[in-house]
Amino acid sequence: MGKQKLYMISLDAFGSKDLDYAKTLPNFNYLLKKSALVKNVETVYPSLTYMCHTSILTGLYPHKHGITHNTKLQPSKSSPDWFWYAQDIQSSTIFDIAHENGWNVASFLWPVTGKSRSIDYNLTEIFPNRSWQNQVMVSLYSGSPFFVYQLDKKFGKLRNGIMQPELDEFLTAGIIDTIKTKNPDLMAIHFVDLDYMRHHHGVDSKQAKAAIQRMDQHLGQIIRAMKQQGIFDETILAIFGDHYQIDTHTAIRLNVLFRQEGWIEVDKNGHVKKWKVIAQPAEGSCYIYSNGEVSDQSIFELLQLYPDCIEVIYNQEQANALGADPDCTFLIEAKRGFYFLPENNKPFMETVKEKNSLYKATHGYSPTKDNYETFLMMSGPTINTGMVIEQARLVDEGPTFLHALGLSFPTSTDGKILFDLFENQ
Ligand SMILES: [Zn+2]
Repeated sequence: MGKQKLYMISLDAFGSKDLDYAKTLPNFNYLLKKSALVKNVETVYPSLTYMCHTSILTGLYPHKHGITHNTKLQPSKSSPDWFWYAQDIQSSTIFDIAHENGWNVASFLWPVTGKSRSIDYNLTEIFPNRSWQNQVMVSLYSGSPFFVYQLDKKFGKLRNGIMQPELDEFLTAGIIDTIKTKNPDLMAIHFVDLDYMRHHHGVDSKQAKAAIQRMDQHLGQIIRAMKQQGIFDETILAIFGDHYQIDTHTAIRLNVLFRQEGWIEVDKNGHVKKWKVIAQPAEGSCYIYSNGEVSDQSIFELLQLYPDCIEVIYNQEQANALGADPDCTFLIEAKRGFYFLPENNKPFMETVKEKNSLYKATHGYSPTKDNYETFLMMSGPTINTGMVIEQARLVDEGPTFLHALGLSFPTSTDGKILFDLFENQ
């Protein structure tokens, strides 16, 4: 008998609140009727894409898997490096365990997979952030070179850098080709169109709605390719979001305050030369790091002056208990509609306007913000079609997906297997 196939499809920034609209679209509707559903999935903190996807892969909160932000703390660089490489993950992933057990793994723009030894066909999520790099070069270096080269040769004309919706069109063409030519056992797919449109146009914008329609079409194309290959009925499909988004009205730049306090020193271009206290924004929330030269009490007192935009100030111990970076000095949560940016040489506060380049909606907020949940649906062999669970957590997904393959993590996870999603449990 062959391996149980699993396709994991991540719809970035798809929330529980999108389900009603999705039901009106043909392919979502077709899949929802065949699926077991978790209506509300609680994300992780801060709810940034790389942390979320790594929590899905490991069943752990970020402080345990080590991906505590999208980017590394590199205040002196104008474009910091992202957590692009799998070696930054400090625990076993679904990819590792499936691969060790003989599963053939393909991954399309799944975060934090660069140079992974557990992925047979890997198109990584990476972009050139240094002047001497280009897209093809960084993709070849971090992914499976021959596979990436072939995808680029066949479908590269569909792509326009990391612009959407072209990137997801390119992705879908590559996925369909891979289903037909490689027939992977485990497929991980990350669609980013909706997240991009929500950031630039707002949660309920017509552009976001159009992105959900395109998502539906991509799902249709994938289902069709699977059916043509005769593998649709034997494959478990898990479709889920990583976080939702919240509309913004004001951006806050805490490093402007820290620079005024003399805690940040900059060169003539505004690049950070030295710092005693620095903010590393995660948009809806923000890490504060201190080198110990400024007392925590002084930092706390400064932050307390802004109760209109800051909802909660968590200290290090509390941040760790919430699963965030245990090395931060504080983690602060923005009030709904506020979000944090890193610059130290722009206004402290700036209003989001139709015409300016600020994000119209974003994420990074606490998982417990109202109406901020995402969802999970699973269909295929062993799945309890029609089952509806009201509430689960993102960290439950990894153990549940491995269980679907008849596998498990070698050590205990924060997440639990959602047995109710399966038949005969
Ligand atoms: Zn995301």
